[in-house]
Amino acid sequence: MTPPSIFTKIINREVPADILFENERIIVIKDIKADAPIHYLGITKHPYLNLDDLLTSSNQEKELLWELFTTLASLADQAGIKESGYRIITNNGPDARQVVPHLHIHLLGGEPLNIQDHPQA
Ligand code: AMP
Repeated sequence: MTPPSIFTKIINREVPADILFENERIIVIKDIKADAPIHYLGITKHPYLNLDDLLTSSNQEKELLWELFTTLASLADQAGIKESGYRIITNNGPDARQVVPHLHIHLLGGEPLNIQDHPQA
């Protein structure tokens, strides 16, 4: 059996985190090692390993993706970066350098972001 991820431990209140939003399906926390002034993580409570795991699962809770995106967009608005812009990404697998094997979406903003890995850079 896969051991519980750090995010499951946060969801279960076994590890502290700065929680910005929570409902029965998702949680949003501040990233502990922020890469930008605003760096939040939208996490599914169900421990999907990553996007691919959710998309290939039998119950296919694709509405969770909509909920994660709309919640992060709303928090971006609340953080005052709706107009200045923000990036939403998910790292899926080794080449993307996914570190935590539990589906999460990064929200980054608050300054001009690094374009190093941008496809049009
Ligand atoms: P990745 O799996 O590469 O998409 O990124 C995992 C992210 O989780 C990184 O940005 C980490 O800084 C972040 N992270 C790891 N542990 C914690 C934690 N205990 N609290 C908040 N963020 C964390």
